[in-house]
Amino acid sequence: MGAAFVRDLTELAQISEDERRRLEPVTRRYAFAANRYYLSLVNWADPDDPIRRIVVPDEGELQPWGRLDPSEEAAYTVMPGLEHKYPDTVLMLVSRLCGGVCRFCFRKRLFLKDEEEEEEILDDVDGAVRYIASRKEVTDVLLSGGDPLMLPPSRLERLISAVASVPHVRTIRVGSKVPAYMPARLTDGSGIVDVLARHSPPGRRIYLACHFSHPRELSPQAHRALRALREAGVVLVNQTPLLRGVNDDPLVLSTLLKELSAHGVAPYYVFQCRPASGNLPYVLPLETAYSIFRRAVSRCSGLSARVRFVMSHATGKVEVVGLAGETLVVRYHRSPDPRRTGAVLLLPRNPAAFWLDDYPTPESPRGALVGAAPR
Ligand code: SF4
Repeated sequence: MGAAFVRDLTELAQISEDERRRLEPVTRRYAFAANRYYLSLVNWADPDDPIRRIVVPDEGELQPWGRLDPSEEAAYTVMPGLEHKYPDTVLMLVSRLCGGVCRFCFRKRLFLKDEEEEEEILDDVDGAVRYIASRKEVTDVLLSGGDPLMLPPSRLERLISAVASVPHVRTIRVGSKVPAYMPARLTDGSGIVDVLARHSPPGRRIYLACHFSHPRELSPQAHRALRALREAGVVLVNQTPLLRGVNDDPLVLSTLLKELSAHGVAPYYVFQCRPASGNLPYVLPLETAYSIFRRAVSRCSGLSARVRFVMSHATGKVEVVGLAGETLVVRYHRSPDPRRTGAVLLLPRNPAAFWLDDYPTPESPRGALVGAAPR
């Protein structure tokens, strides 16, 4: 990752020796990486600083909880680094690098140091493009990882050119936290924005799903990066999990949503934090998280209030629509099962639930009432 990166807690002069000793077992289990710019945003006088919580390990990560593949991506992997879950959309895992390692990452399995994991990053780009070309129903390609904008510009160019050469691909989406973690990478002439600009002409824009989780990430450097991206013709949206101690305050979350809108970044999704291994310190019960989200959205005007609260569940993209008395109302936006897409579930409330799995399934004896999918 280069000299700007800190990968060893001994390089963090701001934490005490005692704290370092307590956190080292965490970094032996889950990788630690941060860069000097992002660490400069931390208020080290505050042990609960939200920016610090995003990148500095927490002892609670070692509590046994969650799983390494919480959305069961393996089930939808058609070749290493290529997932095909919904008919019109494929996902490519193109990089195992990020501008830092988020403590709550749901793909932290990509960064594990000590496990002989099967290679999950796309190596065979030609094979992936042949797969997409052979399936006319695929119109959307998502580049993710890791962070695609950490690739060398020449590799990003080859990748996007190859995907864009498939005539039926209409939209290329890139998921990236580089605007938050390393905004200078987008303004320092690295060539990344030039690649995006070349592939974002009118009529075939690239969408960049940014990952800002706290208003303080929207620094002057980040503002400049967002401006460069907008001028390149890239359409900007934002997605973030709702995170304990980071953005679980309606005032903080609404400020984030409003500031994003002001900078031309449409708030797109707020996610329920996934039950990934190590995530217990960062996750809130689902109904608590949704209530915080609603209170935040009620402070926002229409543009920011378009954001949706969703779960990326193994069975599909599920939006939490409302709490009505003793009932939680959710709707499947997308599902590999066409009978579920658009269907509404009325679930008996469970304040201790963290995930859809903690509610009765439609098929169970207590069965959630399922509104039929529209035809
Ligand atoms: S930027 Fe995304 S992929 Fe990278 S560590 Fe953070 S959540 Fe994980």
